[in-house]
Amino acid sequence: MSQLIQEPAEAGVTSQKVSFDHVALREKYRQERDKRLRQDGQEQYLEVAVTCDEYLKDPYADPIVRDPVVRETDVFIIGGGFGGLLAAVRLQQAGVSDYVMVERAGDYGGTWYWNRYPGAQCDIESYVYMPLLEEMGYIPTEKYAFGTEILEYSRSIGRKFGLYERTYFQTEVKDLSWDDEAARWRITTDRGDKFSARFVCMSTGPLQRPKLPGIPGITSFKGHSFHTSRWDYSYTGGDQTGNLEGLKDKRVAIIGTGATSIQAVPHLAAYAQELYVIQRTPISVGFRGNKPTDPEWAKSLQPGWQQARMDNFNAITHGMPVDVDLVQDSWTKIFGEIGVFLGSDGSRAQMVDFQLMEQIRARVDQEVKDPATAESLKPYYNIMCKRPGFHDSYLPSFNKPNVTLVDTQGAGVERITEKGLVVNGREYEVDCLIYATGFEYQTKLSRRNGYEIHGRNGQPLSDKWKDGLSTLWGYHIRDFPNCFILGNGQSAVTPNFTHMLNEAGKHVAYVVKHCLDERVDVFEPTAEAEQAWVDHVMSFAGIKQQYDRECTPSYYNNEGQVNDVALTRNNFYPGGAVAFINILREWREKGDFAQFQQRKR
Ligand code: NDP
Repeated sequence: MSQLIQEPAEAGVTSQKVSFDHVALREKYRQERDKRLRQDGQEQYLEVAVTCDEYLKDPYADPIVRDPVVRETDVFIIGGGFGGLLAAVRLQQAGVSDYVMVERAGDYGGTWYWNRYPGAQCDIESYVYMPLLEEMGYIPTEKYAFGTEILEYSRSIGRKFGLYERTYFQTEVKDLSWDDEAARWRITTDRGDKFSARFVCMSTGPLQRPKLPGIPGITSFKGHSFHTSRWDYSYTGGDQTGNLEGLKDKRVAIIGTGATSIQAVPHLAAYAQELYVIQRTPISVGFRGNKPTDPEWAKSLQPGWQQARMDNFNAITHGMPVDVDLVQDSWTKIFGEIGVFLGSDGSRAQMVDFQLMEQIRARVDQEVKDPATAESLKPYYNIMCKRPGFHDSYLPSFNKPNVTLVDTQGAGVERITEKGLVVNGREYEVDCLIYATGFEYQTKLSRRNGYEIHGRNGQPLSDKWKDGLSTLWGYHIRDFPNCFILGNGQSAVTPNFTHMLNEAGKHVAYVVKHCLDERVDVFEPTAEAEQAWVDHVMSFAGIKQQYDRECTPSYYNNEGQVNDVALTRNNFYPGGAVAFINILREWREKGDFAQFQQRKR
């Protein structure tokens, strides 16, 4: 465990009740939201490849030299993060052995490959987050594992299941085109490879493309800069555990206070000569309470324990009644009290939400000595308006004399100059600027992935989706046969992201096995089934919009553009992951393919 993690006694979300004036609070929430609302929504962000493609370079691996490949395969998997790994393992377990993987990075790990900033840690309990623990015979060392352990674990999945032999790293897909006559996907890459595959499975991650804020002057800074997903240890010194010795004589600014920033800030605060934390909207910081794994507990686990624990966590985070809370952390505490926002009683949930957020705000007062700084760090919005954060060392960082919170009052950075940045008319001169500004979400898939997908008759997917997504279950697309898209759009999400990836892997394996066994060459949803799913997803839109409308902008609510129909269609399935998993399970059990059109050999 990092030495920076402290164990505060009564901090964070507690069941202690606090009193509040809910009318005044609601008004305060609206005022804070209105400060942040902007007309340009998602357009406020810049495409990193256009603004500064240096920020995309891989600082972690030496270039691989290899000749182009020409290869036929049954399944072509794009992405070597947990989604791709789970698809590969589930295929293998179903008896499908002819598949290859490509991955842009130099190794497996996906988000854990790229996000190696100091303090990177999974804030979902590792016993439910790290997949395949029973198959791997592995128990994470801590309740919340750090990035290095998760990255190494990803590699060990690759080794155990023999995936390295069929993976092409540092390889970017350039085009995917469906050849209807041959019933094959034709795939080209930046390495000059030519693959041909019966099926394509894309698991490229919903938050994989770094995004940059559209701050005037962003390219004019003459100091050192990078995005948190490409941490430059050659400049900062140290590694993921900290020890950023290179910053001892440096003035550093970190822009953004999201889930990433709160993990990195304590390490920057420990080493930088001067640290400016540039905040637009405060994040909610709940109690973490990390601890080493108890070996006695690990020994007591019975077969099937991980799926049971995952299901228990999933049920609680969907507001469903359970006999026991196995994970017992801030996530289950929040959702256990509040219920998921859909399907729960609105006014009751709102009162519980106020209560929880009052506790979050009270924690700031407990942890931060300077009252003005504490006030600035308090979030005024409903808890699921933004990704909640959990940390025990972030707030105390602001008690250090070298750390300054720069509160932009919702306006963001005014300008970037050659020497630093300007907020509220004041210039802060720095040596190093770190962008903790997050990732593109629900922008065009081709923009995020860097390639287009051409379906039947050469139709680009961007064209089919110009008015928003159209899919069956988020995975299948009419006129793009034999192609699985494992993303969030029109599919379910849950705080434990790998839970859904595991379900997706099982689904892919089931469909591919069925097609290979039944000699089905072309498999796609009927137009009616696809439309019915889109209609079903959209039938929840009103409820979600109602919640989102009250929210401060974030990628959770389309940056405040709540009424945009196309963006609403791109949203996740609001019926919840429990219902979604049941839909898929029942479909598999029935073995009824009425929603699909199948062309046999
Ligand atoms: P986020 O998108 O959550 O945060 C970006 C930050 O940049 C926000 O604080 C945002 O402010 C700020 N920002 C954007 N534009 C400007 C501007 N013009 N001026 C000033 N500030 C600006 O990105 P993160 O990388 O923190 O997190 C992304 C996601 O990654 C998380 O939501 C989570 O899903 C995942 N993650 C998960 C972790 C885990 O442990 N499982 C750990 C880390 C990340 P504002 O809030 O006002 O928009």
